[in-house]
Amino acid sequence: RQAEYAKLRDVKPVTLDGERIQVMMNAGLRDDIPMLGLIGADGVGLFRTEFQFLVSAALPARERQARLYRDVLDGADGKPIIFRTLDIGGDKSLPYLRNETSREDENPAMGWRALRLALEREALLKVQARALIEAAAGRTLNVMFPMVSEPWEFEAARTIFEKQVAFLKGQKRILPEAIRYGVMLEVPSLAEMLDQLLPKLSFMSIGTNDLTQFLLAADRSNPKLAERYDWLSPAILRFLQRVVNIAKDYPVDLGVCGEMGGRRLEALALIGLGIRRLSITPAAVGQIKELVCKIDTREIGEAMKGWLANPPADMRQTLQQWATE
Ligand code: PEP
Ligand code: MG
Repeated sequence: RQAEYAKLRDVKPVTLDGERIQVMMNAGLRDDIPMLGLIGADGVGLFRTEFQFLVSAALPARERQARLYRDVLDGADGKPIIFRTLDIGGDKSLPYLRNETSREDENPAMGWRALRLALEREALLKVQARALIEAAAGRTLNVMFPMVSEPWEFEAARTIFEKQVAFLKGQKRILPEAIRYGVMLEVPSLAEMLDQLLPKLSFMSIGTNDLTQFLLAADRSNPKLAERYDWLSPAILRFLQRVVNIAKDYPVDLGVCGEMGGRRLEALALIGLGIRRLSITPAAVGQIKELVCKIDTREIGEAMKGWLANPPADMRQTLQQWATE
């Protein structure tokens, strides 16, 4: 495994026609960070901060949160890290917040979770904001909000961060050099409001794990629905195409951070749709970088346009055939 990683570590993901694709990794623990160097990823496109909460017996205090975030930034050696604020609640309920999060939600994925919970239990988000801002003193902080369904939720969350910045400024503390705010696009309704939202964002990351389950109304964890939960279904790809086309008109850095990007045919499809930043499971980084080097974005872009205008009976097979040829 180590040898395999080493072989692909220095592969630079540039397509045949010279497009540099960002291949980042998803992470959630301090121990994940050394992988960045081992596999040669471009950064962490999704740091799931809820992991620390899930493995803790009690709510992690601000200092402990800040220590983790600082260690992660230190270990990244200047590569960008996108910290996603807490995505707990629903099925990821915390024992020490039991009264809050384990109200038997009948549809936990669509329940009281993530930013929905954080905006109502503001103290949670305030503490996390403070920890992130302190940890990023003198550097760039990338903050991403999960499960945003409407633009006002983004505004409310950003306001909580800005209040903490103002407070720390008053205390004469060293602030981050810059704070870049972004959202996950994983609730379909947000795609209808992009003209309102995108001017306010530095970046947006499409969370295809949840987005797919919501678009197809197919539970991402139900094995009986595995066939229906298909990232390559023309409906999903058309939806993504629309989002990519809208985002082109704004100076927003668009990426995908769902597991979809770590699969060869799916990554090929995403690049064909115009996606230039993927954040994926570390184990897939090497092979996706290798794949990138064999693609001509204009060719796959043209092919993709044709397939989406006139969807083939089997998109997977069509992509496979194209890849083989
Ligand atoms: C997603 O929903 O696509 C995602 C990346 O987040 P998570 O898997 O943590 O819900
Ligand atoms: Mg999600």
